[in-house]
Amino acid sequence: MSNSHLPSTHDWPQMQPGWVWLCGAGPGDPGLLTLHALNALRQADVVIYDALVQEAILDWAPQAEHIYAGKRGGKPSAKQRDISLHLVDLARAGKKVLRLKGGDPFVFGRGGEEAQTLVQHDIPVRIIPGISAGIGGLAYAGIPVTHRDVNQSVTFVTGHDQSGDVTSSLDWKAIATGSQVIVIYMGMKHIARIAAELIAAGRPLGEPVAVVTTATTADQQVLETTLGTIVDDIAAAGLEPPAIICVGRSVLMRQVLDWQGQADGIAPRNLDPLGRGRPAESA
Ligand code: SAH
Repeated sequence: MSNSHLPSTHDWPQMQPGWVWLCGAGPGDPGLLTLHALNALRQADVVIYDALVQEAILDWAPQAEHIYAGKRGGKPSAKQRDISLHLVDLARAGKKVLRLKGGDPFVFGRGGEEAQTLVQHDIPVRIIPGISAGIGGLAYAGIPVTHRDVNQSVTFVTGHDQSGDVTSSLDWKAIATGSQVIVIYMGMKHIARIAAELIAAGRPLGEPVAVVTTATTADQQVLETTLGTIVDDIAAAGLEPPAIICVGRSVLMRQVLDWQGQADGIAPRNLDPLGRGRPAESA
């Protein structure tokens, strides 16, 4: 395939037979792929992709075989092992293998395990980071994951562990008291429990929360709610995973930064949602 889509001023890496490139596809919008991802799509013999990868992205690899390796919510690790070993087999067969995962491959995506299995089987790998849903998905909703007036730290957490249960290894109290903004992946199933833990640890019932589903795609939905009302509001809105849940006052910034709404002609609700009373750039 030609790489004419890519700037000719850069020396793009060539995929070699027998290699696996483990690549993030971003949160959904194909425009959020990296140029390294596009370079890989143009060269691969086979693309193994996850459920959260938009199929439109595969159109950039018409020469390649496309293999779906989706698995949904907390299902067994045996399947994960099958995927990793499938990658090993394809590489050993001399293919140029592109393993495409949603968001960033090393953020709650088990990319580290896949890469480790490959290295353990002597397969050479290249890692291509991607835009993670917890950052890019929030940006599409008009929520800055850090904002100087709100947070000097952010915690990314997963709502369930390997068994599908709410993550018992997490110290919710420490997170609730130590992190101004909390970004929850895979949080829909256990949101009642998570909200209760955060409230029990002292976060106010009125704490702003946003739920962003299928972020950056044409189906994106954004719910603005609070810790006290989130469970009912999710049910009332009929929201389904995949969703990123953001807890913290940075959610208020959507009142001024809902740039997609603004592009559709909706005026900003509040130009100073944090009530600073002075221009945004002043110290
Ligand atoms: N590696 C991915 C995360 C994989 S875990 C990344 O970096 O984004 C899967 C979870 O990611 C989903 O349950 C959901 O919480 C989140 N997610 C991924 N894509 C999303 C999207 N487009 N919109 C909302 N949440 C998304």
